Amino acid sequence: MNTIKVIVEVSARHIHLSRRDINRLFGRGYQLQVKNSISQTGQFATVETVGLKGPKNEFKKIRIVGPERKKSQIELAVTDCFYLGIKPVYHISGDTKGAPKLEIIGPKGSVKIPAIVPLRHIHISDQEAKKYGLKNKQKVKVKISGQRAVIFDKVVVRVHPTFRFRLHLETDEGNAAGVKTGDKGLVIKNFKL
Ligand SMILES: [Zn+2]
Repeated sequence: MNTIKVIVEVSARHIHLSRRDINRLFGRGYQLQVKNSISQTGQFATVETVGLKGPKNEFKKIRIVGPERKKSQIELAVTDCFYLGIKPVYHISGDTKGAPKLEIIGPKGSVKIPAIVPLRHIHISDQEAKKYGLKNKQKVKVKISGQRAVIFDKVVVRVHPTFRFRLHLETDEGNAAGVKTGDKGLVIKNFKL
């Protein structure tokens, strides 16, 4: 099988917080409240939001995605970076090397947290990866159809037992391709342009 259908999800700007940073922003021992669960197993948007300050502009409210993580990280679209006044640094989630740190403001204090633009990626479980012949860290192409049809190149495959099969794009990529959450893309392996 050379082509595989994947559900697209367009991720708006959000933040992941460590226990230490939750303590600083909301007070020691504070527990973030679940607003709604999101597609990846165990992940949720919280009721709480925080402020985000860049050198040029700020966002008063950005979404927190729980549960808490080992390391805090802000995930932005490229347009968000320009608005805030920072240079976009592209990484796979969890890697923040060379990323600019921005001030996050909570009700009880503020902290500086690195901001990345997530590289476009696919989440997939071990089982499905095996079925489709995909490997962790492999790069594939994904074709989006429609009026603004594009082929996304260098889409990083991320395999984990709990992952649900999804293509994650930031909002600029989604808008450029004219796709929204729930639309479908076609994963293309072994295809040379
Ligand atoms: Zn993702």
